[in-house]
Amino acid sequence: MNRIAALATPGFGDVFTDHMVTMRWTAQEGWHEPEVGPLTPIAMHPATMALHYGQTIFEGMKAFWRAGGQRAVFRPADHARRFNNSARRMAMPTLPVADFVAAVETLVRLDAAWVPRTRGHNLYLRPFMIAAETGLGNRPAEEYLFIVIATPLRPASTAEPKPLRLWIATDHVRAAQGGTGEAKCGGNYGGTYVAQRRAAANDCDDVVWLDAAERSYVEEAGSSNLFFVESTLDGPCLRTPPLSGTLLPGITRDSVLQLALSLGYPVSTEPLTVDEWEQSCADGRITETFVSGTFRSIVPVGHVASAQREWQVGDGVAGPVTSRLREAMLDIHYGDAPDEFGWMQLVDADE
Ligand SMILES: *Cc1c(COP(=O)(O)O)cnc(C)c1O
Repeated sequence: MNRIAALATPGFGDVFTDHMVTMRWTAQEGWHEPEVGPLTPIAMHPATMALHYGQTIFEGMKAFWRAGGQRAVFRPADHARRFNNSARRMAMPTLPVADFVAAVETLVRLDAAWVPRTRGHNLYLRPFMIAAETGLGNRPAEEYLFIVIATPLRPASTAEPKPLRLWIATDHVRAAQGGTGEAKCGGNYGGTYVAQRRAAANDCDDVVWLDAAERSYVEEAGSSNLFFVESTLDGPCLRTPPLSGTLLPGITRDSVLQLALSLGYPVSTEPLTVDEWEQSCADGRITETFVSGTFRSIVPVGHVASAQREWQVGDGVAGPVTSRLREAMLDIHYGDAPDEFGWMQLVDADE
């Protein structure tokens, strides 16, 4: 499919831009051979270590269109730092933040025409790293491949998103203390699909993960973090589970916390149990719940279900705090509000 046709058709992750950036690492030479070229399949020996032992990490971030020959990437240096945290956890080499950001910017500059111009659409950037050494030795590889590719996100509708139905996983666990929950490594995702299927079979959009030890604390939802809006005598407050080591420290989560404070909502990072969540929705102390993440941005939660129970959050529709935060975030992304936090990295592009 050509670019014009692709950008006009709803979808995500199905078509890719024209180029990719690659870089190699070896124990002897460190990072070398940065290459920018057409997107092509990569040939691999069947004993490539990433295919067997799962040393693979990735990031997901977005570029937005700006009038006047620029594109803007959301917090790329923060994604680079998190990428390096994932690398350290997986015994993989880290990449200088400037090199990571330069690789991403190079791709955005080259494929600038692929950045959709509709508010609500954008270009999703996928930097990733895999163990590229050939061999079946069960140890950290001594060769790695870093690649950046991109795919345009074209939602079917740019209207307010439909509130989600979330499914609480009670039979499966995503991450335990000391495990890899904080890292964006491939294995964290493959292990969740069985629960995702269960959620879909129960008419739910995504899975809520509970803590591994007690199976009672709410951690996150699919590839998104969770927020609760609590009603207090002083007005609405925002609450999100603390970064306990088992959930992914979302860049969007961090942005929501900063944005909320600047809009005058107090924030807290207090653990929340499923029981308290359900009870507080029933007695009106929790008025809204939403998820936050790069892919979805900010999306309301309307219902929560599990094998044992089901309840509605608020009126089951987007609440005012969720909508306000969502719009404020979109305004920053699309340049409709000043970038008071310095989140948008502008990339020059030829029109
Ligand atoms: C990527 C991800 C998030 C959200 O992180 P963002 O930086 O906001 O995109 C949350 N949970 C999981 C499991 C993730 O993989």
